[in-house]
Amino acid sequence: MANVKKYGFVIDPTRCIDCRACLVACRAENHVPLNHTRIWVYDQGVQGTFPNLSQQFVPYNCMHCDEPPCVEACPSQATYKRPEDGIVVIDQEACIGCGLCVQACPYHVRYLNPETGKADKCNACLQRVERGEAPACVATCGGGARLFGDLNDPESTVYQALRLAKSIKQLPAVNVATGPNIYYINEPVDEKKLAISEAIMPASDAFYKYVVIPGVIAAAGLTFLGQAVAFAKQLAKGESEFED
Ligand code: SF4
Repeated sequence: MANVKKYGFVIDPTRCIDCRACLVACRAENHVPLNHTRIWVYDQGVQGTFPNLSQQFVPYNCMHCDEPPCVEACPSQATYKRPEDGIVVIDQEACIGCGLCVQACPYHVRYLNPETGKADKCNACLQRVERGEAPACVATCGGGARLFGDLNDPESTVYQALRLAKSIKQLPAVNVATGPNIYYINEPVDEKKLAISEAIMPASDAFYKYVVIPGVIAAAGLTFLGQAVAFAKQLAKGESEFED
């Protein structure tokens, strides 16, 4: 198993200056529409007491979870975890745009792209990674706050950063085991302040999942059945007229 890749991010909030170059690079690389984003920098606010004050910024994006609730929620198997490296991706051809994965993600890192009508999120810039390049956010981060690589490779920057880290922390989701693959190093990150909530489907979404979608499927099925019956009747009528 030593040769199996496990891609992940290592993030050092002490190196983030909130310049947001990563957001711009991600948008440009992945054609993310305005008013949406695949990555964030969360401002934890001022910490400490005067005069010992500091302000911490926490970059984050899809955690490429070991147990991704989004994959479980997807009714068309469009979203899946790549067995070869662990990156969670969305097959845009297979996505039906139902939005259930958006609701299922406890980290709220998915959105429905208004231009495509499909779900979208960080895919670790797979197109760059497959060319041997770092994701756009990592390549652009001047402070080296965002690192990416193979967590199983002792030679990788992420492995070495974890080895030398003063502290390591993951952000667990509330009430759901996800196995996130972003590791925060060197600084305590207050997950209570981050917008992480329970993966509970709101009533409106449950209505959508259990009433609207089955209703649409049933209506489409009935329409098809009606047309098939009408066609069969026409056919039978035509045959009897031909016999007469
Ligand atoms: Fe899926 Fe959300 Fe985990 Fe990313 S962070 S793998 S979108 S559940």
